[in-house]
Amino acid sequence: MGEATTTTARTNLLGLTRTGLEAFVVAMGEKPFRARQLFKWIYKRAAGDFDAMTDLGKDFRRRLAAIAEIRTPDIQLSQVSADGTRKWLLTLESGQAIETVFIPEPGRGTLCISSQVGCQMDCGFCSTAQQGFNRNLDTAEIVGQVWLANRELGYAPDGDRVITNVVFMGMGEPLANYRNVVPAAEIMMDDLGLDLSRRRVTVSTSGLVPQMIRIADETNVALAVSLHAPNDELRSEIVPINRKHPIKELLDACWHYVEKQNARNVTFEYVMLDGVNDRPQHARELAQLLRGHPAKVNLIPFNPFPGTVFRRSSEVAIERFRDLLIKGGVMATIRRTRGDDIDAACGQLVGRVNDRVTTRLGQKTFPVAVVQG
Ligand code: SAH
Repeated sequence: MGEATTTTARTNLLGLTRTGLEAFVVAMGEKPFRARQLFKWIYKRAAGDFDAMTDLGKDFRRRLAAIAEIRTPDIQLSQVSADGTRKWLLTLESGQAIETVFIPEPGRGTLCISSQVGCQMDCGFCSTAQQGFNRNLDTAEIVGQVWLANRELGYAPDGDRVITNVVFMGMGEPLANYRNVVPAAEIMMDDLGLDLSRRRVTVSTSGLVPQMIRIADETNVALAVSLHAPNDELRSEIVPINRKHPIKELLDACWHYVEKQNARNVTFEYVMLDGVNDRPQHARELAQLLRGHPAKVNLIPFNPFPGTVFRRSSEVAIERFRDLLIKGGVMATIRRTRGDDIDAACGQLVGRVNDRVTTRLGQKTFPVAVVQG
């Protein structure tokens, strides 16, 4: 006791892809196949402790424990909605907090995860934007949300899969955190990892065109695009990134993605804001924009939060909008609101953002300036 201890940080294995883990074990003087064993223990059997990994040699386990760990964010609060939706408030080591939501549906379970602490995109109708931005999550913090949720939901190695889909639709703009989001998605899709089929891991973006092109070329995750308006004038107002990458550029990137990925379509999210973007003429304009293209529109009833100036469109307006899209030759569905009684619905996630580096001050700090590739 009393002697100085060295506090070299241990490597969190949740942040390593299979290739990364291979390099890690090789650097320890082990054979690359050890990485496969480790991967299976971590993801297939949800082991969080090296001691449990009985087919690895004792000496290897001891050496691993000295330099590596399997660490997730801490659960600060866990809530269950009347409709079965679950929300976790997770504290990160930095003292920040993020939110993760699980949405059970017949035949599938969707986990909605965060990619950043706060967000810089400054979309007027999103409560995460009001929190400002602190930092990107690292790969381990992103994968950790899925790993932790799996455990919390009673994941059993041989049982039915509880989480069948992961969507990057929590806090943050995933494509602004490309370098950590892409490896995280890879771990989720790895058949020895979380083994989610490609197409069941969806990245949702407000429209970072250069990164959309990269993702089309470099990975095979599914893509959802937050469109929210059928013309540049309106879109620039409610989704400020549109000033940098207008609709024509955005759609070109979408069609590039479909072609490159041989995907069925791109999902366009469209939040229904009363009197703002929900009029019949908006629906006709949108149909004209998307007709004949591999597109599907998902209409999201606006979820209010304290201080917002927006209101949710009426049910009648939302249904009329959908019908006009379908009549105009565009596939359209309405997203059922889930978990709003525990503020777990789209756009209601706030976490806790300390020490913001950008705040929502009109457009004085235009978010795009700090977005990294
Ligand atoms: N930054 C990414 C992903 C996070 S938001 C993006 O913009 O796509 C996930 C979806 O919820 C987006 O389509 C977003 O526009 C939508 N959303 C944001 N605030 C909302 C609100 N208050 N009500 C309903 N949907 C909202």
